Amino acid sequence: MKASASEGTHYFFSRASKNLGLGTRLEKVMITPRREVKVECCIELDNKELAVFTGYRVQHDNSRGPMKGGLRYHPDVDPDEVTSLASLMTYKTAVVNLPYGGAKGGIACDPSKLSHAELQRLTRVFVDEIHDIIGPHQDVPAPDMGTNAQTMAWIVDQYSKYHGWTPSVVTGKPIELGGSAGREAATGRGVAMATESVLVDHGQHVADQRFVIQGFGNVGSWAAKFIAERGGKIVALSDLSGAIRNKDGFDIEKLLAHVQVHGIIGNFPDAESINPNELLLEECDVLIPAALGHVLTEENARDVRARYVIEGANGPTTPEADEIMIKKGITIVPDIFANAGGVIVSYFEWVQNIQQFRWTEERVNAELQTVMHQAYNELKGIAKSNGCDLRTAAFMLAISRIARATALRGMENENFCLLGFGK
Ligand code: NAD
Repeated sequence: MKASASEGTHYFFSRASKNLGLGTRLEKVMITPRREVKVECCIELDNKELAVFTGYRVQHDNSRGPMKGGLRYHPDVDPDEVTSLASLMTYKTAVVNLPYGGAKGGIACDPSKLSHAELQRLTRVFVDEIHDIIGPHQDVPAPDMGTNAQTMAWIVDQYSKYHGWTPSVVTGKPIELGGSAGREAATGRGVAMATESVLVDHGQHVADQRFVIQGFGNVGSWAAKFIAERGGKIVALSDLSGAIRNKDGFDIEKLLAHVQVHGIIGNFPDAESINPNELLLEECDVLIPAALGHVLTEENARDVRARYVIEGANGPTTPEADEIMIKKGITIVPDIFANAGGVIVSYFEWVQNIQQFRWTEERVNAELQTVMHQAYNELKGIAKSNGCDLRTAAFMLAISRIARATALRGMENENFCLLGFGK
């Protein structure tokens, strides 16, 4: 039987917690979410029919600060996946040392089949149902797959009807409503920074590498842009419309302009169509999954031909695939570090809202670089001193930080304090 999304995350957690000697009792405390909420959102469609969509918010951990995590609109949203993603947010905020815990939400719906007005009604009803459990010092949502700055604007408006003007209730907002310069590009920019760090660490440079990227949405398209700007050659790409290849490397600015007009990468000139199922197996140096979870599996991991996998998406690699690729000598830069750029700049947005002060984009990008650089150095140090892979190092760092905060707050027993690093 295949592991569920949560079981996959628990596997990675346990692999690291064993190295720390955490013990099953403390493991249980840390993996159990604090709160799981399910709501039914009934809206009137444009054709006057009623439709009901199920929404979720899972609040995993708040020992290090308010919970933080995206809101996803996708047909496959289910409670297990939301729970897994919520826990990944707890570990991600801890790895990059933000003063946050982790949460995640979602509504099971297909946003491409709903009108702008229907999406607005759905978002407002969802806020009606959960407004008393979110807030700037409680739980701060952000965009994820299928949601964007407009969705966040509706949330600010609806939440503010109950609680007064509160832009800091969400991040990833439009600039006009308190969004941060640099937020939209931040996850892709962080993916490019993580890629550069690991390559430099191995004595290589982005400019000498060939890249394959799955997904050309927010994360994939910005990552492609920044990698191309550093001279990297992107030789294959995919989105929902299919997969394309150009052995000489795509002109990414031209592709971005094409997507701006057509919405998809399909029919881009200077490209050969390839089977989307084979994209992840294309010959390249660096593979960046930046679309869905669970795409690198037991079935295809043996055939991956990249030397580096940079996880732009959340949870793209199953535990089985992880073990297979490690054995093959592939270096995997895990999601809880590689795609943390978004939550880092979300944190900067929240800070700016609370201070009622705006930072320049240069400052945002420079501070992002500092946080990513510091986190990579910490992961590298832990991986080296423990002889482990970067994912295990990232979980070890996260677990020790969360455990220490929990102990200091007096919420669990003093054994937590024995964990050595991540102070
Ligand atoms: P998005 O909705 O902007 O883009 C998703 C992209 O994936 C689109 O290009 C879509 O066409 C493509 N896609 C969907 N199904 C596909 C398939 N079967 N094969 C190939 N491509 C497919 O979403 P996003 O915000 O870019 O998020 C992508 C991933 O990154 C998700 O796992 C998300 O959780 C993660 N992530 C996003 C952020 C962020 O700030 N947006 C931050 C951290 C992690």
